[in-house]
Amino acid sequence: MASTHPLHGRIDGPVVIVGFGSIGQGTLPLIERHFAYDPHDVHVIEPSDEHAAFLAQRGVDHIQAALTRENYREILAPLFPERRGFCVNLSVDTGSLDILRLCRELGVLYIDTVVEPWPGFYFDLEADPSERTNYALREAVRREKRANPGGTTAVSCCGANPGMVSWLLKEALLRLAEDTGAPVPAPTSREGWAALMRDLGVKGVHIAERDTQAGRDAKPIGTFVNTWSVEGFIAESFQPAELGWGSHETWFPPNGHRHGAGCRAAIYLDTPGILTRVHTWCPTAGPQYGFLVTHNEAISIADYYTIGEGAAPEFRPTCHYAYHPCDQAVLSLHETLGSGVIQPEAKILDENEILSGEDDLGVLVYGHAKNALWYGSRLSIREARALAPYQNATGLQVTSAVLAGMVWALENPNAGIVETDEMDHARCLEIQRPYLGRIEAHYTDWTPISTRWPQFAEEIDEADPWQFQNVLAT
Ligand code: NAD
Repeated sequence: MASTHPLHGRIDGPVVIVGFGSIGQGTLPLIERHFAYDPHDVHVIEPSDEHAAFLAQRGVDHIQAALTRENYREILAPLFPERRGFCVNLSVDTGSLDILRLCRELGVLYIDTVVEPWPGFYFDLEADPSERTNYALREAVRREKRANPGGTTAVSCCGANPGMVSWLLKEALLRLAEDTGAPVPAPTSREGWAALMRDLGVKGVHIAERDTQAGRDAKPIGTFVNTWSVEGFIAESFQPAELGWGSHETWFPPNGHRHGAGCRAAIYLDTPGILTRVHTWCPTAGPQYGFLVTHNEAISIADYYTIGEGAAPEFRPTCHYAYHPCDQAVLSLHETLGSGVIQPEAKILDENEILSGEDDLGVLVYGHAKNALWYGSRLSIREARALAPYQNATGLQVTSAVLAGMVWALENPNAGIVETDEMDHARCLEIQRPYLGRIEAHYTDWTPISTRWPQFAEEIDEADPWQFQNVLAT
């Protein structure tokens, strides 16, 4: 029977996937479905041998190695002898910027889902906290872009978030314009998008996520359970909490810090994400707590929609992640904090173990004439299982964004270093949409001050419910 999956392009030259964890395993079948390429020229660089038989069965060359600062050049360069091909970086503990730079030097397309540092960065307690931020990681990539504009396309941070949420945000803004009686064509420049957001009266954006996927078994003590990389989630949970800092904010967190250099779109707090909770809203549960875990998109979105410059621009939205991970991950964080050690065992719930639940991941765009709009993907485990193999709902939201980013890169091979805010959101969502379950828009009257417990004395700004002071849970 002929495949019913559309072919989105041809990859000339080798396909190299770095890292074969939950996201790598889910991405490979999407590459197989949607691209033409030489099946004898697919390589996976992965230190673990857990999936060696699976890769051998599919004819994929498994290079059992961990990339390091010392060896990445000598392992990667010979795989791309002819200045063509695609490097898909889906690993932890590898230096994204170094690999991105090498790929551009080799004329090879590149994509990743996070600006990942080499090991040691996240838990370097000697470093100033500002040096352990995603702001610092992103600024290094932006400096590289400025220093070497144009050239071979390298897509930075193209997963679900960072990634897809930047495309959904643009759709949400167009929807909001329509629903407030002032429909507009999609802007064609960064300045145009920023002006649209400002003119709509938007004050900020939560990347509001609720993951309700649950397995049959209770969480064992000593095991950190999650629906995607345990290592990645623990690392970001222990980085300082970070948020894009909006121009409407009148209060400044007493434990907040601005950066001395760079775009200055974001600030960081002295508390790690794991200890920083915010009031937010998702259609699944309505009002809820989320963890303000640092993420690249909190900074890139605040930067992209800035009008003006520096620490006090004319307009900038506040933007941050507000993440309610799956219940077992919440319990896992609780245990990590209480025990003072990272659990010796890690477990990513796979699609066969998860009995029920869904991942609702979208943007909560707030502060405008209709108060707040949640716009995002609602994907159940049942839908995910039917749509693509070897991944849960969380994974599919990520891998389908990687697919969309790869298609965009093939269609725009000389765009230089780009973030997802800078890509054609309509084209990317066109590719990704079949994998996102239901894309829904929900307006809500809820504000961060409408669900407070009167038993607790809190300093609340009643005059402007959408001040970060009210969003931050005490
Ligand atoms: P995972 O922990 O399941 O897998 C990571 C893989 O990388 C593992 O198989 C590990 O063996 C491999 N690895 C470790 N060190 C390596 C090295 N030095 N060289 C090559 N491979 C190495 O993680 P995952 O859930 O597959 O996530 C992969 C990456 O994607 C992580 O960086 C994660 O933060 C990121 N991610 C991004 C999003 C997003 O929406 N943007 C979502 C989920 C995951």
